[in-house]
Amino acid sequence: MKHFRWIILAALIIGGCLPVCLAKDEPLMGITARKGILDLRSVNLNDQFIPLSGEWQFYWHRLLKPGDTTSAWPDYVAFPALWNKIKLHGQTLPAEGYATYSLTILLPNKRPQLALLMPDVYCSYRLFLNGSLQLSNGRPDTTVERAVPFWSTETVTLPATADTLHLLLQVANFWHSKGGPYKTPVIGKRTTLNLNLQRDKAFDLLLAGCLFMGGLFFFGFYAFGSRDKAILYFSLFCIVYSYRMIGTSLYVLHSIFPDLSWFATIRIEYLTLTLGVALFSRYFHSVYPKDANRIIVNLVVWICLVYVFLILVTPPRIFTKGIMPFLGVMFFYIGFAFYSCIRAVKYKRVGAVFALMSCGVMLLVFLIINLHYFQLVSAEKWIVFAGYVLFFFLQSLVLSHRFAFTLKKAADEAQQGLRTKTEFLSTMSHEIRTPLNVVIGMAHLLLRNTPRKDQEKNLNVLLFSANNLLAIVNDILDYNKIEAGKINFEMIPMDIGSVAQHITGGLSSKAVEKKITLNTEIDDRLTRKVIGDPTRTSQVIYNLVHNAIKFTEQGSVLLSIQAEKITEDKATLTIQVSDTGIGIEPEKQQLIFERFTQADSSTSRSYGGTGLGLAITKRILELQGIVLHLRSEPGKGSVFYFTQTFALSNEQVSPDEFINKITVSEKQLQGVSILVVEDNPFNIMVAQSLLERGGAVVEVATNGAEALEKIQPGKYHLVLMDLNMPVMDGFEATRKLRTRGVTLPVIALTASLPAEVEKDVQSAGLTDIVVKPFNPDELFRVILKYAK
Ligand code: ADP
Repeated sequence: MKHFRWIILAALIIGGCLPVCLAKDEPLMGITARKGILDLRSVNLNDQFIPLSGEWQFYWHRLLKPGDTTSAWPDYVAFPALWNKIKLHGQTLPAEGYATYSLTILLPNKRPQLALLMPDVYCSYRLFLNGSLQLSNGRPDTTVERAVPFWSTETVTLPATADTLHLLLQVANFWHSKGGPYKTPVIGKRTTLNLNLQRDKAFDLLLAGCLFMGGLFFFGFYAFGSRDKAILYFSLFCIVYSYRMIGTSLYVLHSIFPDLSWFATIRIEYLTLTLGVALFSRYFHSVYPKDANRIIVNLVVWICLVYVFLILVTPPRIFTKGIMPFLGVMFFYIGFAFYSCIRAVKYKRVGAVFALMSCGVMLLVFLIINLHYFQLVSAEKWIVFAGYVLFFFLQSLVLSHRFAFTLKKAADEAQQGLRTKTEFLSTMSHEIRTPLNVVIGMAHLLLRNTPRKDQEKNLNVLLFSANNLLAIVNDILDYNKIEAGKINFEMIPMDIGSVAQHITGGLSSKAVEKKITLNTEIDDRLTRKVIGDPTRTSQVIYNLVHNAIKFTEQGSVLLSIQAEKITEDKATLTIQVSDTGIGIEPEKQQLIFERFTQADSSTSRSYGGTGLGLAITKRILELQGIVLHLRSEPGKGSVFYFTQTFALSNEQVSPDEFINKITVSEKQLQGVSILVVEDNPFNIMVAQSLLERGGAVVEVATNGAEALEKIQPGKYHLVLMDLNMPVMDGFEATRKLRTRGVTLPVIALTASLPAEVEKDVQSAGLTDIVVKPFNPDELFRVILKYAK
């Protein structure tokens, strides 16, 4: 890639130079005017243009008309030449004044239809051909009051019949610091000459249009988008510079609008140059602030501004004098910009290689224009055109690179911020769960210690709040995991009807409390288990039913599972939760699926909740490609439903699958010997008291190493092992046990969610997981399952 860019650069330079060298004019040996006569009688005019340069007759301070007889002998001067370059009778002419030039052209007999291309002169002319006025720029006259300046490039068809042409050219200048003709008129085949001029003007117009539109585009981009100063400067530079394509050189604009005031256009011409340089140096500095020396840039900008001021307040005669020193500043700046580009490339700045290429191209274009100006090469217009296009294209690449880079950086930062936030929330939630474990455990313990009636009430409130807090923390952890994409779906057979019944069973006490009916309807045709993730499916259904009960004051809540379609291996089910509750305003119905959003800010005050439940539910479903729908009418109730297609398992549902809920009675752990390995003294207290109340014999080890010492064959029925401990953690202790060949059941006690540690737990050889804070019934059930 790196080399590729250099190859492009080299190709550009060689490719740029080649046509210039090739295009160098063949010297037209001997075809030059002598003593006011240009003899073309033996020249083939079919395929070449003849410049009308050489010795012309010259009458200083005379404006002769055709037929004017003059007693004075003419002087002979080089044409074209500025007056201040001409020495007449030992004296250099001033820039201001008026004069007449005359040339006789002898044409060949055989010739195509000819035309003359007449460029602008400083600063007005009138051209007579064989006695009749053919072309003019402004109005040359002998006094400044009557004369009018103008610049444009025109062509005129030459008379077909005359073999001899008498050219009379009146020139006057009272306004510019230069006077007289300086560009060479040419004659040649009319069709080709006109075509060439039209083509060159078309190039100018095209380039001006491109630059202007490009400038507007970048300006819009700045104004409505990026607010990047570099883009603003570049857009203004393009717009300002676009004028120069049609307001200088061939002066296309002047040909289109011949009534334009020369005094206005020359100011615009000079202003666009100075402002162009100022804008470009500002632009370049904003792109590579570390490489383009600020002092130099400021100096250049100030010089430009001073010159702008001069252009605005002084007459053209004065400010046009300043162009030479200004060109000096400009060339210095171009060299400086080139140097800055090399620095930028060296320090690997964004897009610097393109900037360097573009500056290289610009240098080349200027070189060609200047060599052309000094008549050393004849630059084909299209080369300059291509150079400009390339320059602006490469600069746009610099900007787009810069923009893409900024965007990417912002996106990376946003991602990083999001990751940090997620990690922070996860860590915090995790840390909160551990002490919460103790609070919930203690509450359970105290409740089992036959408290007084008033104490029991308070303890229930405590337990209720702690459980609420745990649910919130779990939601946050869950949501973060879903956001981070760290959630996997299990694919195991589950009896979805039982799952549903289990959920409504668990929530029935809440419904009873609120005096609303809670019903479950399961499609009878669902006789086989479906393949899915019971944890996530329960979570979704639980959230919906829980909300329905929460937001219903009277009436009923119905959970229904209907089979839309059952085939040999698939079942499409619609799971629907409807209630007769407060309902949701139509405009809030989309909002409530956003995280932390509730339909009404008073909701959290009257019903509690964090606004995470639905966001989680929706995301869990979305991750499986399922859409959660809502139909709701305020005051009447809501229906949440989704349709999911499950693969069918071969296992039949058994009616009593979920009735194996073990009722924990006191002393059911009678005779069970348990080793609790745990470093947190509070946790030890909770576990020990609970287990002993259940009748178990409990011993404690505070880390893995201590546990390994204590464990002897036949001594314990089961080990409850914390995972994170000092000295030796639960994983390592279990691994060591297993290598010793001990098959004793080891149950992991962890504050992490099972899915997070499952793999490590299995590979270390732990038997099962119980999540802290544990529900005593659940813990007892697991112990009983393995201690037998
Ligand atoms: P939470 O219930 O914790 O506030 P959710 O994300 O579960 O958060 O719900 C977001 C909001 O959607 C609720 O605060 C409530 O305004 C509205 N909502 C959810 N379910 C129902 C329902 N069954 N009836 C009326 N409003 C509901």
